[in-house]
Amino acid sequence: MSDLIIRTRFAPSPTGFMHVGGIRTALFAWFVARQANGAFILRLEDTDQKREVEGSADHILKALGALGITHDEGPDIGGPYAPYKQSERLEIYKAWAKKLIDSGRAYADPYTPAELDAFRESARANKKAFLYRDHRPETPPAWDGSTPLRLRSDPKAYNWHDEVLGDLSTGPEVIDDIILIKSDGFPTYNFAHIVDDAEMKISHIIRGQEFIASQPNYLNIYEALGLDLPIFATMPHIMAESGNKKLGKRDGAKDVLDYLNDGYLPETMINFIASLGWNDGTEQEIFTVPELIKKFSLDRVQKSGARFDEKRLEWMNGQHIRLLTLDDLYERVTDFWPASAVTASEELKKHVLALVQDRLKTLKDLAILTDYFFAEPKADWSMIENNKQLAQLPKGELKQLLQASFEALGEVSTSDFTPEAVQETLNQLLVTTGQKPGILFSLIRTVVSWAPFSPALDHTLSVLGKETSLARLDAAIKDL
Ligand code: GLU
Repeated sequence: MSDLIIRTRFAPSPTGFMHVGGIRTALFAWFVARQANGAFILRLEDTDQKREVEGSADHILKALGALGITHDEGPDIGGPYAPYKQSERLEIYKAWAKKLIDSGRAYADPYTPAELDAFRESARANKKAFLYRDHRPETPPAWDGSTPLRLRSDPKAYNWHDEVLGDLSTGPEVIDDIILIKSDGFPTYNFAHIVDDAEMKISHIIRGQEFIASQPNYLNIYEALGLDLPIFATMPHIMAESGNKKLGKRDGAKDVLDYLNDGYLPETMINFIASLGWNDGTEQEIFTVPELIKKFSLDRVQKSGARFDEKRLEWMNGQHIRLLTLDDLYERVTDFWPASAVTASEELKKHVLALVQDRLKTLKDLAILTDYFFAEPKADWSMIENNKQLAQLPKGELKQLLQASFEALGEVSTSDFTPEAVQETLNQLLVTTGQKPGILFSLIRTVVSWAPFSPALDHTLSVLGKETSLARLDAAIKDL
């Protein structure tokens, strides 16, 4: 096993958006390849033409690219086993199908859909499980491609190992004559993926739970083709936050690109998605991508469903935002500034960004958190009324506190309006007014920002500057 060349693949069908579950499969396969200096292959499984959604293939490439999940071979870049798009490999599947016909392990299905329905109906009437192999024709016609080609299965019990699920076994009753090539000339997933994984020398098949029931039939096909088995690893479902059902579109499982557009960092998405069903056995929750590549192992993927918790995702994003250097963060927030910042200097923007970095949960928060640094905020006195402590003070007292603050801050020199100088004045104000910081500082903070959150008051006032700070205090005094 040590000389096994690690080649993993992500084999999406271009049928729509890139949900979290699909990305997780890609990610785990990518980790396995990258940690072993192996290859990660992207293969488009587009043999179900009815389900194909236009633009979906480009979308998959874009989503993987945006997350930095790089592939070494694929439909866009080619590789030694090209083409990497199943619809362009039809001749290859036919050649492999011929091998099975020649060895007597595949046959042309002679039945019409109505005849098959009648077989199913009679099985139901007899309370028997329906199996195609019970109706296998004695002398099937030669296969001309106009009818389905079926496996002539060899029903038997199987024991096999799954890296995640452990040792599994099934009886012969689950083995059946499944379709290999459909009457439209396209192979089924069941057949095509085995051919492709063999041709592309895939070492590990990492895929979702929806395929586990078909696994015994796959084993039967591997045997019929005389192929060595790859390593299998079945991913647990991702469950919705509430209830015990699989995560669906309605549970907040957006497309990954939507999360990025909403101000989640790619590294957050990778960390979060990796944590859906995997941990390293410690309490550590925040991992960088290189750390994940190093630490990931299939045997620590849990068997049971992982829960999708959007609040945790948000928390994690805040943590990853904090880990960025200011310059890196600055590069990433280009599209997230409030409109009011359009003419602001890079210096001011960086200053403001440094102030709020610790408070951002998503990059989208930037606009709400910083607008008042670049534009005059609109007074919203309901913020005072809704503040438990401030709401108790009579108007006259609010006015007096603001007046005292206006005068004291007016004493600080314009050129020395630093956080330290401002803080000293604020401390003195606490003494002269006899107020608690929770009241006095909240009041000042509110009337200079009219924002739900803001950074530490000394820094906020310092960045606003003396003139603006005093003007906003004055406006509030006049408003009261
Ligand atoms: N084309 C299959 C899907 O998108 C991939 C399954 C696999 O990874 O083998 O669900």
